[in-house]
Amino acid sequence: MADSGRTHLGRTDTGRRDELAANLARVHERMAGAAESAGRDPAAVTLVVITKTWPAEDVALLAELGVTDVGENRDQEAAPKAHALTSLRLRWHFVGQLQTNKVRSVVSYADVVESVDRLRLVTALDKAAGAAGRRVVCLIQVGLDSEPGRGGAEPALVPELAAAVAAAPHCELGGVMAVAPLGEDPLAAFSRLADIAEALRQDHPGATVVSAGMTADLEQAITCGATHVRVGSAVLGHRPPVR
Ligand SMILES: *Cc1c(COP(=O)(O)O)cnc(C)c1O
Repeated sequence: MADSGRTHLGRTDTGRRDELAANLARVHERMAGAAESAGRDPAAVTLVVITKTWPAEDVALLAELGVTDVGENRDQEAAPKAHALTSLRLRWHFVGQLQTNKVRSVVSYADVVESVDRLRLVTALDKAAGAAGRRVVCLIQVGLDSEPGRGGAEPALVPELAAAVAAAPHCELGGVMAVAPLGEDPLAAFSRLADIAEALRQDHPGATVVSAGMTADLEQAITCGATHVRVGSAVLGHRPPVR
């Protein structure tokens, strides 16, 4: 794969490939176990591997191992990786806080923006996607914290945001996304998300995506109906410190 035959960690690509394969198998086992316990079809849950801080070589290995969806949270890091790997035909999810001045770059590679949390962002995404001749799937990021302001839209604002996305010609309303708040039982938080998602589907039957659950709480998310889990460290290892 890489010319040097080594990853940035100095192990051989074969070693890294085996490590990723074993980690992926374990994560798929966890996902299937949770789905079966909840009486759900394991095939109804998609794994999005969050590759932030890891090199493009790892993303290429993941694609070889059958991963179809990857996610990143910072445009500066995601843009060069995604553009270098276009031939792999992965679906790129943007999952981080998004400033409007990054929107033009993000729509050039992202198929899904999971962190839509305000009206101005919908306007900017629609305009940029239109200019680029692209269509972007948008998830409304819902803040599940009791105090607002920790990321994500307040639940009461979801209908208005969803209507704006649905009306935007270059955006498609996919559903909702959330991160479980710190210090709360994720099951309680994700069951609130499930109620919000159900209410959204009353108005927008096509908005079926529920993106919830990470390394620590993917089982609880699947129990509560997640269709997508976003897993980083259980697949790639503990993230190296941000440079
Ligand atoms: C980093 C990140 C994840 C993955 O977290 P892990 O705990 O490493 O699985 C999921 N979602 C978002 C929004 C992230 O930023």
